[in-house]
Amino acid sequence: MADGTESESRKLLGRLREAMADDEAGQARLNRITHLIADSMGTEVCSVYLFRDEETLELCATEGLKPEAVHQTRMRIGEGLVGRVAGRRQVINTADAPSAEGFRYMPETGEERFTSFLGIPIQRLGETLGVLVVQSRQAREFSADEVYALEVVAMVIAEMAELGAFVGEGAALSPLHQQSVLLRGGTGQEGAAEGHVWLHEPRVVVTNPIADDPARELDRLNEAVEELRVGVDKMLEISQDGDKDQMQVLEAYRMFANSKGWMRRMEEDISRGLSAEAAVEKEQSQARARMGQVNDPYLRERLADLDDLSNRLLRILTGQGNYSDEELPSDPILVARNIGPGELLEYGRSLKGIVLEEGSVGSHAAIVARALAIPLVVHAERITTEALNGDHIMVDGDQGIVHLRPDDTVVAAFRDKIAMQAQAQERYASIRNKPALTLDDETISLHMNAGLMADLPSLSSSGAEGVGLFRTELQFLVRNKMPKRSELVALYGRVLDAAQGQRVVFRTLDIGSDKVLPYMKPTDEPNPALGWRAIRVGLDKPGVMRMQLQALMRAANGRPLTIMFPFVAQFDEYRAARAEVDKAIAREKRLGHVLPETLEVGAMLETPSLAFAPQKFFDEVGFLSIGGNDLKQFFFAADRENERVRRRYDVLNVSFLSLIEQIVQRCETSGTPLSYCGEDAGRPVEAVCLCAMGLRTLSMRPASIAPVKSLLRRVNLSEVRAVIETSRSKGEQSVRNAVMEYLRTST
Ligand code: PEP
Ligand code: MG
Repeated sequence: MADGTESESRKLLGRLREAMADDEAGQARLNRITHLIADSMGTEVCSVYLFRDEETLELCATEGLKPEAVHQTRMRIGEGLVGRVAGRRQVINTADAPSAEGFRYMPETGEERFTSFLGIPIQRLGETLGVLVVQSRQAREFSADEVYALEVVAMVIAEMAELGAFVGEGAALSPLHQQSVLLRGGTGQEGAAEGHVWLHEPRVVVTNPIADDPARELDRLNEAVEELRVGVDKMLEISQDGDKDQMQVLEAYRMFANSKGWMRRMEEDISRGLSAEAAVEKEQSQARARMGQVNDPYLRERLADLDDLSNRLLRILTGQGNYSDEELPSDPILVARNIGPGELLEYGRSLKGIVLEEGSVGSHAAIVARALAIPLVVHAERITTEALNGDHIMVDGDQGIVHLRPDDTVVAAFRDKIAMQAQAQERYASIRNKPALTLDDETISLHMNAGLMADLPSLSSSGAEGVGLFRTELQFLVRNKMPKRSELVALYGRVLDAAQGQRVVFRTLDIGSDKVLPYMKPTDEPNPALGWRAIRVGLDKPGVMRMQLQALMRAANGRPLTIMFPFVAQFDEYRAARAEVDKAIAREKRLGHVLPETLEVGAMLETPSLAFAPQKFFDEVGFLSIGGNDLKQFFFAADRENERVRRRYDVLNVSFLSLIEQIVQRCETSGTPLSYCGEDAGRPVEAVCLCAMGLRTLSMRPASIAPVKSLLRRVNLSEVRAVIETSRSKGEQSVRNAVMEYLRTST
């Protein structure tokens, strides 16, 4: 195929198909393929390198290099030209290989005689499986047509590998997706779970990469694309006045579905002998490879849209992937690139665990997973390409680790961990109804943080005394339309019903920064965390706040009501918000509605400025709750969403504890009830230190209540306080080590 014509290309694919159909061992098939390619490309050499482990490529078959080098020659990713093709997932085409950047001479192969080099990554859906190389004596660059033809061949080889065509002796020829794999990601929700993989987006398997009737394949492609276009248009029609984000995605779908470039490339692939589905998958693979290289979030999103669209097209073409006949396993661990909060809520508590390739700690999916107390690992790279439906999988949400198809030793160790956690849960159950009473007779009041109806069953099972923070924005975040007042009345009413008279602190909408409502125009701010958010939005655009206050009063329907304003940075803001509450009461009265039996109105202390507000503020505010997540971020000037800095400063740093101490003192002077509702309240050692600084009410995730209570019941707070004082007077930066040491020896 030196001239690279389409019919030659098809002829070669036809011969490859015969090789695939023959009942041969993997090695013999690979040998035959390298021979066929060299013959048809008119090159002296053709070699296939496959991965033997994540880092190392191995020469698995060759025509033209020394046969004794097969399974002996190995290189790491990035090493030599072959390693570079794999590492960068890019073609290398050079007339003068020895002078090319990165060239490494492999004497055992005898390759010194060959000057030209063309290396193509063998990849499937973003996963690089190996490298296909042709070399020749004559110093020439391969034509664009030849490169293209070899890319098509590499695609077919990738499909054959996926179907198990090259399985044989040794690590490089072992079957794909059967070895055990450990993937490291980040913690989205703690907890350990064992189960079987359930792919949210079913994986389509292309069993017929090569076709011999291009005209028929073109018809199939055109019909499928037409069906896709009609489907996208319909979806667009339906969501015309709906969610903006969704519209944007659909518009992008439509753009791709009508893209001439996309169609042209697929048509060309077909004319060279690929089946319609293989052509779609080739484009998809290349989009995924590009996705790994672009940093611009907008472009990445668009490439992800193209990926979704290709999946839809593949499902139309193959008829695969409709889950209708398949049953969710009894212990499903959901695996997805990403998932929306609504979809996750639909699965609900049936899931044992969740592993996302993307996602983030602060994503809405993570919020829902936390509400449902389902262990979640985010940023688990490669999980969607590695995992197959039904694979055995273990999720360690505490460490952010996933064991896919684990071996026996991992299984045993992991089960021990689960058993230990179960034992701890049993221990915790025995103190559920006991008070958090310390050895020096201080009683700490423990409440839970919530935000979804799904959280509320935890109220009684966790032993919480009430809801110390109900994040009302979650209800706004998980839907794609602004909820109506009547819906909010019903919802808040159900929350109060579920609380059965226990106190629920409703925090008004805390949006902006990391919490962007899908249906609100995003404001392009240079520093969203310091921007137009929470109470600032509420006061500037009071419509939504008024609606929410009204809904809360109607939901209370004569019961006690507690309202808290987020992110108050100065007295005036609290006053203005409080005035809105008074106006709402007056309006409700005028309209003849029942007023709440009692009304408490408070603020979150999330900015250092509020700790230094005039005494009058402390006298006037109904109560305060320290939002430690934000307070810490502003105190240390370290973005809570930024992985690079978010763990850099310890909450047990003496500066932070001194700030807490001052807040406690000011509240004591004015008699203002004070609580702490940031994440640190749910960490036992941190909780003990906060109580030692004077806090008597903490609010945390439901799952943290028992461990925090268990430790509180075993400590003497005045002793902890003394340890903190000593550590502080010694000039230590953080009291953590001193307190840990004390706890180790005394509890
Ligand atoms: C906080 O900032 O500590 C807090 C509880 O609020 P959120 O995490 O919702 O910002
Ligand atoms: Mg906050």
